[in-house]
Amino acid sequence: MTPSIASRLAKLNPRQQEAVRAIDGPCLVLAGAGSGKTSVITTKIAYLVQECGMSARRIAAVTFTNKAAREMKERVGQMLQGREGHGLTVSTFHTLGLNIIRGELKALGYKPGFSLFDPEDAKALLRDLMNKDAQVDAEAINQVQAAISNWKNDLVLPGQALSHAADDGEQFAARVYEAYVRHLKAYNAVDFDDLILLPVTLLRDDPEALARWRRKIHYMLVDEYQDTNVSQYQLVRMLMGERQTFTVVGDDDQSIYAWRGARPENLVTLGEDFPRLNVIKLEQNYRSTGTILRAANTLIGNNPHVYEKTLWSNMGQGEAIRVVVNRHEEAEAERVASEILTRRIKERAEWRDFAVLYRGNFQARLLELKLQHYQVPYKLSGGTSFFSRGEIKDAMAYLRLLINPADDNAFLRIVNVPRREIGPGTLEKLANYATDRGTSLFAACHELGLAEQLPTRAVERLGRFTHFIDGVRRRMDGGDALAAIREMLRDMDYEAWLYQNASAPTIAERRMANVWTLIDQLEKSMQADPEDRAEEATASTATETDDVESAISRLVLRDILEQQAEEDDSDRVQLLTMHASKGLEFPHVYLMGLEEELLPHRNAIEVGTVEEERRLAYVGITRARRTLTLTLARQRKAYGELMDCTPSRFLDELPEDALEWEGRADREDPEKKQARGQDAIAGLRSLLG
Ligand code: ATP
Ligand code: MG
Repeated sequence: MTPSIASRLAKLNPRQQEAVRAIDGPCLVLAGAGSGKTSVITTKIAYLVQECGMSARRIAAVTFTNKAAREMKERVGQMLQGREGHGLTVSTFHTLGLNIIRGELKALGYKPGFSLFDPEDAKALLRDLMNKDAQVDAEAINQVQAAISNWKNDLVLPGQALSHAADDGEQFAARVYEAYVRHLKAYNAVDFDDLILLPVTLLRDDPEALARWRRKIHYMLVDEYQDTNVSQYQLVRMLMGERQTFTVVGDDDQSIYAWRGARPENLVTLGEDFPRLNVIKLEQNYRSTGTILRAANTLIGNNPHVYEKTLWSNMGQGEAIRVVVNRHEEAEAERVASEILTRRIKERAEWRDFAVLYRGNFQARLLELKLQHYQVPYKLSGGTSFFSRGEIKDAMAYLRLLINPADDNAFLRIVNVPRREIGPGTLEKLANYATDRGTSLFAACHELGLAEQLPTRAVERLGRFTHFIDGVRRRMDGGDALAAIREMLRDMDYEAWLYQNASAPTIAERRMANVWTLIDQLEKSMQADPEDRAEEATASTATETDDVESAISRLVLRDILEQQAEEDDSDRVQLLTMHASKGLEFPHVYLMGLEEELLPHRNAIEVGTVEEERRLAYVGITRARRTLTLTLARQRKAYGELMDCTPSRFLDELPEDALEWEGRADREDPEKKQARGQDAIAGLRSLLG
């Protein structure tokens, strides 16, 4: 045994070691938070490579969020030496699906340079489709979008949806679903749910593709298994086939994505589908203090259980959990920011040791202001990122249109940016014409018949635009593609347009700099590891010969999937939603907004899914290693009005003796209360003279 892997294994407890060594059949590690499930996965990857001699290329590990995938990659990277880790897949389910699609374009009937529609793009398409007959409201569109997503996650195709539709509403949604799928295909586009659905249906229906991918992936590891949905489970099942060599780890108490089709029952199904399943339970928590763990266990004890689990820690009792009641939400944000500032010095901690978790992203806004006020560096996950900036979206739309002229969303975004005096009336007629002819907007501009539908001036303007894009495309094909793209940005004077639209020249300057950064990233992406590209080319049945094209499509796809700039590893306080915090840990955690209607969320109370909210609170609490602070406000602004808030029921469910309250009138220390009363009397006396 190589020394490094031997010493890694020795650091794990006997049950963890057993889980690492179980490589011949299906293995499930079922255990509570902080018990070392993810550690089993990372060590097992190293074990497979270093001890079992498996090529890293044959191993695929999947997890739930991009952040978790990055962390896992980092942990594995530290264990593997040199090129040992080369070709290893550590990604989200969606990225794995994307890779399969990229390698199987031809089998799937897609052309290279396909587009990935994010939920906003998808909504725009649904709006068009649904508004054809009658004007529908936003809520109806959301409902149909959710229905389609559920169907896709449950592997229900349009035909099946239609034949099973129980009432008029479902009939309608199923018909929109059918049209939606047809249009996506015509646009050479896929949506997020397709990233799993398409690979699963392909592997199910195409034995050759199945054989290709089974040859490629020999071992799979899945983290956060409790949050997989039906289609993700089928993907794992399909890929692992008779070989049955996989390890999945999970905790049913941390299932927080039922609303996205996650099925915690998958944990049970696994035992039924794989009778040889080796189930290993872990019981020691290595993350949190005894007090934090006891609070978490007590809280989750209020939920019914599929599996009973016990969890203990020998990290010492640690400090009590503080519950801080604030006058209003602004005071709450102020309190958290100023405390982090002082605590950092007191504890000699780094900024990155602190995390602030909340139920919804909107809660971060006030906090951001306060942190800026105190000059505390922070990183907001899932907020406005590089790729969601307007100028980056514009530039990306140009790139998307260049590699996929059928990308109508990209066309619509930039046809008038910079201004080309092409009005909405023209665009509407163009869209109708394109729909009738069953072609894309860009292609429709080239058709002679368009002249009958539009005034000459409008046709000329559209023609100038398409001529411009065609010219860039020709220059790209003819030589230095990057130079052609840079030239395009200069030729259309995008910079001048930014200056016209920015409130200050410095802002325009920064925006233009962002665009050049994007193009630099594109260049870097083209210099990606040649070995990886060779692998991609062989796996790919389609020929993606043009480097810049695959670089753009990599960039576009990554952008849409990650919605995040390059990871910033610097020392910053982390702000994130409880959902996004899954799998992570921090020495000091602040959980904000422990109020009824916020946590548990109002919708959950209404539809009776408080148990899922309790699991969410459990996830939040178990992120903390040393200290945990829960905050709430007595009043909060909602719908423009100050509303009174009720403390969260979860606070009552925590063990009273683990908590230390601050600012709660009825539980205040009686001595303090008396002293204050005397102060008031004294004040009154002096007033009365
Ligand atoms: P979660 O359910 O929150 O995802 P997890 O079960 O995946 O938690 P890990 O993140 O793997 O838990 O481990 C929690 C912490 O415990 C990490 O800091 C990890 O390094 C540490 N740890 C795991 N196993 C051991 C061990 N055997 N000895 C010491 N520390 C360990
Ligand atoms: Mg984990």
